[in-house]
Amino acid sequence: MFFAKMLIPTLRQAPSDADIVSAKLMIRAGMIRKLASGLYEFLPLGLRVLRKVENIIREEMDAANGQELILPLVLPKELWVETDRWSVYGKELFRLKDRKEAEFCLAPTAEEVVIDLVRKEVKSYKQLPLMLYQFGTKFRDEIRPRFGVMRAKEFLMKDAYSFHVDEADLEKYYKVMFDAYANICKKCGFKFRAVEAASGAIGGSFSHEFMILADTGEEEIAWCDCGYGANSQKAECLPISQEKEGSLVLEEVLTPNVGAVEDVAKFLNTSPKKFIKTMIYKADGNSVVVLVRGDHEINEIKLQSLLGANEVVLADEQTVTSITNAPLGFAGPIGLEGVKIVADLSVVEISNAVSGANKKDYHLKNVNFKRDYNADIIADIRKVMHRDICPRCKKESLRFSRGIEVGHIFKLGTKYSKSMNATYLDTNGKENLIVMGCYGIGVTRILAATIEQSRDDNGIIWPDNLAPFNVVIIPVNYEDAKIKETTDTLYKELTSKGIDVLVDDRDERAGIKFKDADLIGIPYRITIGKKNLEKGFVELKARRDGKERIKLLGPKDVSFEMIKIFKSS
Ligand code: ATP
Ligand code: MG
Repeated sequence: MFFAKMLIPTLRQAPSDADIVSAKLMIRAGMIRKLASGLYEFLPLGLRVLRKVENIIREEMDAANGQELILPLVLPKELWVETDRWSVYGKELFRLKDRKEAEFCLAPTAEEVVIDLVRKEVKSYKQLPLMLYQFGTKFRDEIRPRFGVMRAKEFLMKDAYSFHVDEADLEKYYKVMFDAYANICKKCGFKFRAVEAASGAIGGSFSHEFMILADTGEEEIAWCDCGYGANSQKAECLPISQEKEGSLVLEEVLTPNVGAVEDVAKFLNTSPKKFIKTMIYKADGNSVVVLVRGDHEINEIKLQSLLGANEVVLADEQTVTSITNAPLGFAGPIGLEGVKIVADLSVVEISNAVSGANKKDYHLKNVNFKRDYNADIIADIRKVMHRDICPRCKKESLRFSRGIEVGHIFKLGTKYSKSMNATYLDTNGKENLIVMGCYGIGVTRILAATIEQSRDDNGIIWPDNLAPFNVVIIPVNYEDAKIKETTDTLYKELTSKGIDVLVDDRDERAGIKFKDADLIGIPYRITIGKKNLEKGFVELKARRDGKERIKLLGPKDVSFEMIKIFKSS
């Protein structure tokens, strides 16, 4: 391809609203343009990379016996009502009506539609296992679209869905997909970790996220050298034991004008570690009292999955006062009736704790589990902290890194086949629910994540297999007959061998062409200048090498070297 005629609008400066390096570079390199918040156009250069990523993913999906299809993007409400996600998905779902007032949504994911297909077409165990996948645009009305194509309202995802006769078969296949995802990350050249994850709105029993390690990542990963790794929202917390003291007499103390844990602890000359923090939540409308240690924080995602609720939110003031008979700030676990109490593993370890007294201006001292209060559920419901011990090896402290989630795989089990009644007939002619897995990877997000990991001050450094072009040829002056002839010959030779070549035939200074080649990040640059050519040489430079590492080679040798590099990979 020839630069002068291609739409590659490079920029010296990124627009001021580009909020992350990858977005700045993608815009500056002429790969994407922003239409509106969270909406981007992929220009020819960006699309070339997207297609390469797609092909890497497609190869792995096909190797895992996947069958590619295309599902509609406009999906009827009725299917989403069957799984209850018409309400659960909330404001992230783009909703619309057709001219007959029938309601639809724009696909944020495709479980409903693919299950509808499978329940109609798959009848027997003989048709299972089955894996269907697509590359499809996804629409999500993200609360905060940002970071360019990393968190957009419209993005390209590869989503895959697998269907099995039982959990054991799903378990086996989940491992196959886990490996496929790891291969995709390796082929994209990522430094990554696969970590245990919370399942969120999709639900299901178990999931892994594939995290690209980058300081700019939105996610935090907790990990240990023993091999444990989890999204910090999901990371398990071991109970923290405390020195046992003999139980002292329960005592009510006046604590006027002090409400916050820190303040009460100071006032009573004790530590927040001795404090029972009591919070009241609404889980799908039902009140729940939640207890954690004063220095811990409640993990609402853990709480939600523990309670099997679609939504957990802090209760309003009126609910709190009606449950505790006290104004906000004085809630405690003693004497609450007719309401479920959930206690964290570490809170029940405290002896002679401090808590609110459910009475204005009062706290209680020497509160002890079992003697003074009880809990309906005792479970891990707190957020992991930087001092926590690894829940697997139980030896080392957890370490923390930031990451970008590029892929997420789930064991769904029968969650959706149950609500949508997707069944098959087994060998005995008996009807069973189909067992499912689902597997998503953000194709557009992969591009941005690659750039976050692979760049320098001059621009993007694409791995050889993702680059929009393998080689850029820069004729210093394309008008010069000799230079033009050498350029055209090299171009023909390389393209005939299947190498992607961009010729920078623009009428620009060599310096500008070099800057753009570095910005776009093409792995190899061949410069054809008058003086070197008279001596029979052209220049070859690898993008990832520094300025000084330029080789002088004859045009034939350069072409041989490029073919060796790109055809052996
Ligand atoms: P996140 O926690 O980042 O919102 P998610 O859990 O909502 O992600 P999934 O529903 O698992 O994401 O989607 C699968 C993949 O799609 C993600 O791993 C990510 O790569 C990509 N993805 C999700 N949301 C967006 C978005 N708004 N823009 C671009 N890619 C996205
Ligand atoms: Mg999301």
